[in-house]
Amino acid sequence: MSNLSSLSREQLLALKKQLTEQYDACRAQGLQLNMARGKPGREQLDLSTPLLTCVSSAEACISEDGTDCRNYGGLDGLPGMKRLFADLLEVRPENVMVGGNSSLNLMYDTIARAMLYGVLGGTPWSRLERVKFLCPVPGYDRHFTVCESLGIEMVPVEMREDGPDMATVKDLAKHDPAVKGIWCVPKYSNPEGKTYSDAVVDAFAALRPAAADFRIFWDNAYCVHHIRDEHDELKNILDACAAQGRPDMVYLFTSTSKITFPGAGVAAMAASETNIADIRRHLSAQTIGPDKLNQLRHLRFFKDRAGVEAHMKKHQAILAPKFAAVQEILQAELGGLDIAEWTHPHGGYFISFNAPDGCAARIVQLCREAGVVTTPAGATYPYGRDPRDRNIRIAPSVPPLSELRTAISLFTLCVKLAAVEKLGTRKPVLA
Ligand code: PMP
Repeated sequence: MSNLSSLSREQLLALKKQLTEQYDACRAQGLQLNMARGKPGREQLDLSTPLLTCVSSAEACISEDGTDCRNYGGLDGLPGMKRLFADLLEVRPENVMVGGNSSLNLMYDTIARAMLYGVLGGTPWSRLERVKFLCPVPGYDRHFTVCESLGIEMVPVEMREDGPDMATVKDLAKHDPAVKGIWCVPKYSNPEGKTYSDAVVDAFAALRPAAADFRIFWDNAYCVHHIRDEHDELKNILDACAAQGRPDMVYLFTSTSKITFPGAGVAAMAASETNIADIRRHLSAQTIGPDKLNQLRHLRFFKDRAGVEAHMKKHQAILAPKFAAVQEILQAELGGLDIAEWTHPHGGYFISFNAPDGCAARIVQLCREAGVVTTPAGATYPYGRDPRDRNIRIAPSVPPLSELRTAISLFTLCVKLAAVEKLGTRKPVLA
């Protein structure tokens, strides 16, 4: 098939007929495949099953520092677990607070605290007329849902190849005191799989926002989630901010959700000592302490960063062929048609796909009607509104390889069909 936009009206009609026949045949197969959410597949979950039995006696519940993990205490986590997260986030253990099972929960709570109490003595955000967050787009839908739920206005900022458009970020933060924060997934971003360059990290550290309580939410959810042997490197934001005399400007987050078990893993945040002291003060009113037994299980299972890295190699062995299959089919079916572009990430959980403008919702609908569920169109934008209706997040991890190939082949068919429908409506009818 050649470049679609060069086809005549008749050729487009003939192609539409042919694609519709293929689509109807696929639809008749009654597929039931899901590429909607970035979750580990069954085989990946199996990798961590031994974790469930590595703390199985009374003696085993005593951690290396002597804590009986069956009891209350240890608000910011087991010392060993703080050390492990410090190694993963490349910060010092005193800058880490280990939380419960979810980093999204830590992010939500961090904003909720800012709303209720303010940040380091500042006015509680809930008392302000307007609170705004900058949202690099496309981005992670659940970040946007947190803002929407808490009444925070979202301001989209375009992603570039190496991170958000920092000139715009700098300008908006500098001139508008209502801008209180920005969401970032700095490594293998959700959904594009991009890693911020050193220049972007430095530009973040050099921000001089109008709001003294402006915070960068640095969600490093995919810090060790490589799918190639060559790893992307991310410059240390806490050090960069400290070097610029602004150590308090950033909160870091991560979790083991896509290392062990999503929903039953361990999450952590890191920040300057001043921020951590502020957070600890409020947190001590909220809880007596986290689930240390789960922390201990994770600690015993991994021991150290090298243990995590060895485990992530096993994930890589499962995920890499899935990502490769998606790339291969997208290229074979859509390469050269000049209708779509997509990312080629070195890690993370997603491929970000841009269809022709105005086609994403139609593609998702066609896929769904043929039994393949994808992330809803628009989900990667604040308020679920993609202004160009073109971005779709592909999550290849859950379906087994053969099913994934079927799902992506159908996806490409739906892309072509939607594109031909769109082009057909644009071309004048020839006599
Ligand atoms: N941040 C990002 C960027 C994610 O993609 C996800 C999972 N989809 C999360 C956070 C959620 O992590 P957790 O399970 O720790 O809440």
